[in-house]
Amino acid sequence: MFWDSHCHLDPDVYGSDTGVDAVVARAVAAGVTRMTTIGSGYGLRGARSASEVAARHSNVWYTAGVHPHEANIWCDEIRDELTTLSGDPRCVALGEMGLDFHYDLSPRGVQRQVLREQVRLAVSLAKPIVIHDRSAGTETLDIVTEEGGFSTNVLWHCFTGDVPYMRQIVAAGAFISIPGIVTFKNGAVMRQVAAAVPAERILIETDSPYLTPAPHRGTQNEPARVVHVAQAIAELRGLDLEEFAALTTENTRRFYRIDAPVVVDPAQITS
Ligand SMILES: [Zn+2]
Ligand SMILES: [Zn+2]
Repeated sequence: MFWDSHCHLDPDVYGSDTGVDAVVARAVAAGVTRMTTIGSGYGLRGARSASEVAARHSNVWYTAGVHPHEANIWCDEIRDELTTLSGDPRCVALGEMGLDFHYDLSPRGVQRQVLREQVRLAVSLAKPIVIHDRSAGTETLDIVTEEGGFSTNVLWHCFTGDVPYMRQIVAAGAFISIPGIVTFKNGAVMRQVAAAVPAERILIETDSPYLTPAPHRGTQNEPARVVHVAQAIAELRGLDLEEFAALTTENTRRFYRIDAPVVVDPAQITS
């Protein structure tokens, strides 16, 4: 039983609510019995629709936040909405939030400020934090540290740094989530990282609809495919697939502080 720790189950991405529900059903059929959908990257509508998906499916939890790509939208109304959503027990983290200096879709100064604001908010609400960090050196780590982010759980999703940076982040207290890049031909650095993350800190994700793993590259990604990510990493670490699934499922439950038992009763899964 696998847990896709980071996917975007957005009705705009998968066509409709029915499309999202079909994606969830295919995941469960593939053994991906749990998912966390990220309510960040589609404005406030994204956070609200993530909450609706989680309300329809007992095996889907959600996060809410402002993605660095759209840091420009940050305002008091959004802070208030995130505060309200964080009171929902199905809302298990704030994010994804962070810095993306690869695409630079929002000015860097705004990205830094909005990351600071969201880390402070998460700390004040005692919510775990999901980080998006791309091509920003160690600035993301510096800001999370300066704002006291490690007083709560912190996850670097889709980690794309090297082994030394991974070690720095783990030493600070963070969890690390590995995406489908680990299956790519040019994913050598990711494979080194995936082999080296301490056992109690590693999670797996699809980042659906992006980053489709081999052998499905060129098609839209969905949580069922996290099995390929798990297979690749289990092999690198010399573990049985089942053993690695159990390890990452438990780490994901711990990171998001979800108390529900790890084994899902099939009768509880609505699809
Ligand atoms: Zn991201
Ligand atoms: Zn994402």
